[in-house]
Amino acid sequence: MNILLTGGAGYIGSHTFVALAAAGFTPMILDDFSNSSADVLARLEALTGTPVLCERGDVADVALVGALIAQHTIAAVVHFAGFKAVGESVAQPLKYYRNNVGGIIALLQAMDAANCRTLVFSSSATVYGDPASVPITEDFARSHTNPYGHGKLVCEDMLAALGTSNKAWRFGVLRYFNPVGAHPSGLIGEDPAGVPNNLMPYVAQVAVGQREFLNVWGNDYATPDGTGVRDYIHVQDLAAGHVAALQALLHGGAGGGSFTVNLGTGKGHSVLEVVRAFEQASGKKVPYRIGPRRAGDVAQCYADASLAARLLGWRATQTLPDMCRDAWRWQSRIHGSPRPAASR
Ligand code: NAD
Ligand code: UDP
Repeated sequence: MNILLTGGAGYIGSHTFVALAAAGFTPMILDDFSNSSADVLARLEALTGTPVLCERGDVADVALVGALIAQHTIAAVVHFAGFKAVGESVAQPLKYYRNNVGGIIALLQAMDAANCRTLVFSSSATVYGDPASVPITEDFARSHTNPYGHGKLVCEDMLAALGTSNKAWRFGVLRYFNPVGAHPSGLIGEDPAGVPNNLMPYVAQVAVGQREFLNVWGNDYATPDGTGVRDYIHVQDLAAGHVAALQALLHGGAGGGSFTVNLGTGKGHSVLEVVRAFEQASGKKVPYRIGPRRAGDVAQCYADASLAARLLGWRATQTLPDMCRDAWRWQSRIHGSPRPAASR
């Protein structure tokens, strides 16, 4: 079965590509490489042992997407393509609404016209805003604090409306918690451009000596050690979640309809726990300084992941030490090599 991955050259898309190929699907990529490098394609070929089909282009190009779906008899689309920097979305909201909301509208139009109505969508735990309690179940109230999060919410609502309008649509909405780590081969991973916003890539850069110390954004939260708690999930587990979602959508699982599920481990870890786990995995010191709280941050955010287990038979299996080990392997390999050598 041919599966189109929009944004498939990116961090989560590239890992999902490998997992889909291993599960017997034939994935293909549509990516404009606005936040990735075409060099990842050779790595995907090395990992899968087969040529990688990839089209360079914009997901908002309805004619291009429609032609790809028809030409390759695409059975389903996994929509990763989009921008993901929360701070940038506050500074440049239209850039975000155009790509993240405009992109999916165009994609759905192209899919509809080509009679392909099965989609997995990359949503995010950001749709829970500041949750009233933890762990978070899928029926929690949704809210948003920035244009990136608002965009995810709008996309989820659009998919629901479309599903109501035509029962032929099947949507798997996956709310990712905090994806981290890298493929165990060390060949693909995350290499953010500029100063990393997210904790794990920042910690990895400190461990490798690229940055002097980590700023810990606040230690006065109502959490066991005062630092923020998140549900870190290995990107390999996340990739497996996409395989499970597609199998359910295409083979009548999960009750045969659309679903929205959390993809997390169900466990929260504090910033200082991540620092310690990374030090253990890397054998390097990760110096840190306590700074003020970061605007918009929540104290705790972790999933109740039981719905995905019940509906899809999927569970995260990898631990924080596993995530740090694989992030470290990747980070130490790319350190000092030219940036375009990897997906970023
Ligand atoms: P990424 O930036 O590594 O990958 C996104 C890919 O999409 C990139 O390769 C980029 O070049 C491509 N792209 C962007 N706009 C495009 C367009 N208009 N047309 C074609 N390609 C385009 O990001 P990621 O971490 O792999 O995230 C994938 C998805 O998961 C995004 O939708 C993101 O919002 C969502 N998500 C990510 C996280 C996270 O922490 N990484 C958490 C929750 C949700
Ligand atoms: N964090 C931090 N220093 C950093 C980056 C992040 O202390 O340089 C903290 C942040 O305040 C939060 C946790 O690490 O408590 C996870 O942050 P990240 O941005 O990775 O994920 P998100 O907050 O979007 O869930």
